[in-house]
This record gives sequence, structure tokens and C-alpha cells, in this order.
Amino acid sequence: MTGNERQIETLVIHGDDGVEQTHDVAPPLHLTSTFTADSATEFASMATEPRHDSYYTRYGNPTVARAEQLIARLEGAEAALLASTGMGAISTTVLGLVGHGDHIVAQQNHYMGTSKLLSELLPRLGVDATLVDQTDVGAFEAAITPRTRLIAVESPANPTMQLTDLGAIASIARARGILTLADNTFASPINQRPLELGIDLSVHAGTKYLGGHHDLLAGVVCGSKALIGKIWESAIVLGATASPFDAWLLIRGLRTLPLRVRQHNDTAQVVAAFLEGHPAVESVFYPGLDSHPQHALARRQMTGFGGVLSFGVSGGYAAAQAFMARLELVQQAVSLGGFESLAVHAAAMWEGTLGDAGAVAAGVQPNLIRLSVGLEHPDDLLVDLERALA
Ligand SMILES: *Cc1c(COP(=O)(O)O)cnc(C)c1O
Repeated sequence: MTGNERQIETLVIHGDDGVEQTHDVAPPLHLTSTFTADSATEFASMATEPRHDSYYTRYGNPTVARAEQLIARLEGAEAALLASTGMGAISTTVLGLVGHGDHIVAQQNHYMGTSKLLSELLPRLGVDATLVDQTDVGAFEAAITPRTRLIAVESPANPTMQLTDLGAIASIARARGILTLADNTFASPINQRPLELGIDLSVHAGTKYLGGHHDLLAGVVCGSKALIGKIWESAIVLGATASPFDAWLLIRGLRTLPLRVRQHNDTAQVVAAFLEGHPAVESVFYPGLDSHPQHALARRQMTGFGGVLSFGVSGGYAAAQAFMARLELVQQAVSLGGFESLAVHAAAMWEGTLGDAGAVAAGVQPNLIRLSVGLEHPDDLLVDLERALA
């Protein structure tokens, strides 16, 4: 990893050493909203920049700071800011960087909350976004205007598993002094490190792989100290602050992130190959398959291909509904990146929020299933999928 000779397996164990001086081996949980000071003037100096020590938990908390330092190390970043949710991290970041009259270039395919931020909330504040095909680098470049302040990308994207060429977008943006933000949730820092490809800010839903146990909500943004300091100024006002308890759970989850992600990668590859060879499956979208249209890009910018894939079952919408109903081991639930395999009928979910036309525009075919491959034994998952496809 850039700027650090230690390996990622070691960083998840020791990356939070030195954040606070205690003799605890396991991290202490600072479950407090506020902290005492010795004088009123001490507070004045404390409220002006991101802090690792104690003032008031919306401004910073030692347990939260440990999680931030750990994740910053994994992403190869100078600094990180933890938020209450992935959307908390994304909205706080974007609102911290753009203002009235600014323009954003982003993808047609984003996490739904990000899409709504770009197309509904930001326009009300005088910030407009142009959404382009994420697979077309030239389209990003062509959409840039003199007012463009930020390019937002997400790779792999949900639920089509299309990729964005992070290095190419970063160099286009850098040459014009435009900031770049990449949602790295699907890959995790084990499989992809956007900052090493020239991206300025990497965000995650910590709710997914970083936590990994379906028991917390968190978000994080990683980048330079200067940018994180600027985003922190909006964070303390917008208030999507991480809870110390969720930060503590997140640290616990992070200790096993490399082990878990490696297993997710391996099992998802087995499941993707199985589905690709199954007569009742029309299409499989997984960056680790040779058949993925951007497999070469996946190999270039990722070191593993993740645990999420999507596939179309033969027979359309009704067949997809029937498939979901026959699953026994794989649970029907949104979210991803945890120990337990979860599936959603993507079209049914996306229609509910985007409408039929919106779902088609987002590339969501009526027969599309999204599967987050968990840590069960691959053989047991294949039995369940085989039964549901029969
Ligand atoms: C889940 C998710 C988010 C939002 O995270 P929350 O913690 O649910 O707010 C953002 N981006 C991606 C890619 C996600 O999967």
C-alpha cells in the first residue's frame, strides 16, 4: 500500500494503535455525548477542527476516531470522517463541497439515495447534475462545464455491476481542477483503492462490507486532511454524526475485513460460474467473469471482484418472483456485504422507488435478481440456487 509498508491484514489489527493512550487491548467504547474541559477557553480551541480527543461527540469521539484512522489506513488516505450512514457520508461530503450555481457530473447508475440527492435535493439548492453512461469515459469529459466542481462515480454500480474507469476519470478531472468522489462500497478497500488511482475522495456505506455483520449503520469518507477538514465543517452542522457504539461495532467488523472479503470474492466467483452455466439463467453480471463486458477494466483497477452479482432468470418478471419465493437459505432482504447471503428482485424494488420507466433507464431488467453472496459454504448456496431455479 502507498505510504505504508505494512500489509492490509496487519493494518486492520494495528491501524488504530496510538489514537488514544490507554492500556486496553480491545478498543474502549466512549459512550458519552460530551466531555469535561478544564476551562471555557479550552473549548474555544477544541471546536475549530476535526478532533481525536474530547469535546462533544458531534465534533469527535475517541472510539469514532479509531474507526476513522483504521479506515483511512485501509484506503491509503491521510484522513477519514465517519458518518451515521453511507448516505450521511455522501450527502455531507457533497454539501460540504458544492454550492449554489455549481455543477456536478455523475453516473446514470448510482445508489438510489445518491441518485435522489443529485436529481431532487441538490437542484432545490441551485446545484445541477448531468448524469452520463458510466462506461463511457468520453461522456464524462463532454459533460464538464466551466461550472463543474465535482465528478461523482460509483464502481461497481448497483445493481447492474457496470464499472467506471476510475483512473481515466481522475485524470480528466485533475487536469481541470475538478474534485472526484468515488463510492467504493461494493469493492471495499480490500478489492479497490480509488485514491491510488487518483480519485480525491472515497466513500463507503460502512453498513455493508466494512461492518460486515448486518448489525450497524455507518458511512465514511476518506481523502486528504484538507478535504476531510472541509467536509467536517459541514458534518458538524448537518449532524449525520456516527454513533460511538456503531463505530465500536465497525472496528470489531474491520478486524476480519480482509478474511471476509477474500471469502466473499471466492464464493461469488463460484456462484457466478454456476449461474452462467445454468440453463434457467439468461445473463450473469459479475466483474470476475470473462463474459463481463468490462472484465479487462476490472482486472486493471480491482484486486478482487467482490461478493455482489446480479443475474436474469429465464421467464421474465414472474419467473423472478417465483425464484425468490423458492429460496430457503438465501434470505430476501435489501443491503449487502454481510455474513449472510441476501437476494432482492431488483426490478420489483427499483420500480417501487423509481417507477417502471426509471427502473428501465437504470438498466434494471424485469427478470434481474441481485445477490449478495455471504459466507455460507458455497456448496450449500448452490443447492439453494439450484432448487430455486428448478
Ligand atoms: C447501502 C449503500 C449506500 C448507503 O448506505 P446507508 O448506510 O444505507 O446510508 C450508499 N452507496 C452504496 C453503493 C450502497 O450500497
